[in-house]
Amino acid sequence: MKRAFYWFRNDLRLGDSPALQRALRENDEIVPVYIFDEREWEEDEWGFVKTGAHRTKFLLQCVSSLQGAVGDLGSELIIKKGDVAEVFKSLKEAYSCNTIYFEAEHTFEELQTENRLAAFKLIREEGKTLFHPDDLPYGVHDIPDIFTSFRKDAEKKSRIRPSLPEPESIKSPEIAPHELPTWEGFPVEAPNLDPRAVLEFEGGIEASWERLDHYFFESKQLGVYKKTRNGLLGEGYSSKFSPWLAKGCFSPREIYEEVRRYESEHGANDSTYWLIFELIWRDYFRFVAMKYGERIFWKSGIKAEGPGIQNKRFFSHWLNGSTKDPFVNANMKELAKTGWMSNRGRQNVASYLVHDLGVDWRMGAAWFEHQLLDYDPCSNYGNWIYIAGVGNDPRPQRKFNTHGQAERYDPDGKYQRLWNNEILEFDL
Ligand SMILES: Cc1cc2nc3c(=O)[nH]c(=O)nc-3n(C[C@H](O)[C@H](O)[C@H](O)COP(=O)(O)OP(=O)(O)OC[C@H]3O[C@@H](n4cnc5c(N)ncnc54)[C@H](O)[C@@H]3O)c2cc1C
Repeated sequence: MKRAFYWFRNDLRLGDSPALQRALRENDEIVPVYIFDEREWEEDEWGFVKTGAHRTKFLLQCVSSLQGAVGDLGSELIIKKGDVAEVFKSLKEAYSCNTIYFEAEHTFEELQTENRLAAFKLIREEGKTLFHPDDLPYGVHDIPDIFTSFRKDAEKKSRIRPSLPEPESIKSPEIAPHELPTWEGFPVEAPNLDPRAVLEFEGGIEASWERLDHYFFESKQLGVYKKTRNGLLGEGYSSKFSPWLAKGCFSPREIYEEVRRYESEHGANDSTYWLIFELIWRDYFRFVAMKYGERIFWKSGIKAEGPGIQNKRFFSHWLNGSTKDPFVNANMKELAKTGWMSNRGRQNVASYLVHDLGVDWRMGAAWFEHQLLDYDPCSNYGNWIYIAGVGNDPRPQRKFNTHGQAERYDPDGKYQRLWNNEILEFDL
């Protein structure tokens, strides 16, 4: 009898999971585990709890949904909270397993956690990207430092593997039902839904597919995505898939196949292509993280030197939305109240912090990490170093003219009026 753990990390789904499929193939029984890793609720070096209230709520919903899905396949999800290595140590004896299967991660803290599992045999499979790293025309250490070169090569010389089906069943030993942790166990408070939020984001597999169905097939917003994607107001201007992608409620390959289905039913156009184009950006930042490792978190990024100083006063104005720039302020308030900010907003506030206020970009990235619903280390740090001029941007500086941007993307000031009556009081 072969038995192993399956460790769900940021792949909180059952479909299109190469690691889960392999675990099922190679074992007679698997023991599914999710661990709320206590390190993710520790304070970072700037004093922010890494996982803030918005993402904690979303994650609890994701795990609850996964628990239901695992139950439907005849198994039971073990849910624990604590130190990952300690949890596995205690489970090892209870379930007599020496092997842990999981979806591969490539960033510093995630790898550190894996390194602490040396008492186990660890089996990883890639599952986070549209293009499998083995299918790229070069090894990840040789990927070009310019996105366009990468994209063209990948599109021409690589292929996207078909997604994998959900397993029909999961055979496990007897596992007692587990409860989700309560809010008392986290150092953040349950947030209320702000009526101004672009969407009521709900974590989980069903909710991710409902959003996709709505955006692609009900409202058919996908067909005009390229025209609307720089919007600021409402649910329809962009897909809003990122929180579910970050937690792996669905996979980029599953989304890709749905884009193709949409195209076969309603026609392909530059908007349907553009959604895939953006997913390739997402892949790119993950491959950059694989290539450069820890450096994406360094002040100097992938360059020799990084700009900015740790000016707490300026930083406090920025995160509280009390700068001299009302467009930046509105975006920062939306982020704090909802855990969401549009891509247009993110580019502007990041540029403002780095290039107008002269603040160390890592402080901004840490605030985003704390607040964002869709936080993903590769996308967050990859975009921040890009804007700070220490990442994969061929131009030396990517400074946004935030006044010009406000005039262009919020010409009647509606977005700024929606948020700027709010007063935030975060103490640093
Ligand atoms: C400073 C900064 C920090 C960011 N931090 C994150 C983060 O932590 N997590 C995150 O998922 N995205 C991050 N982004 C990228 C981008 O802003 C979001 O992915 C996007 O706004 C999510 O909205 P959407 O799902 O509606 O995207 P859509 O416009 O509908 O795009 C579809 C998908 O493509 C991917 N995508 C789009 N733009 C980017 C991009 N620039 N980089 C990487 N992937 C992209 C996302 O997975 C997104 O869900 C950041 C951008 C900036 C400028």
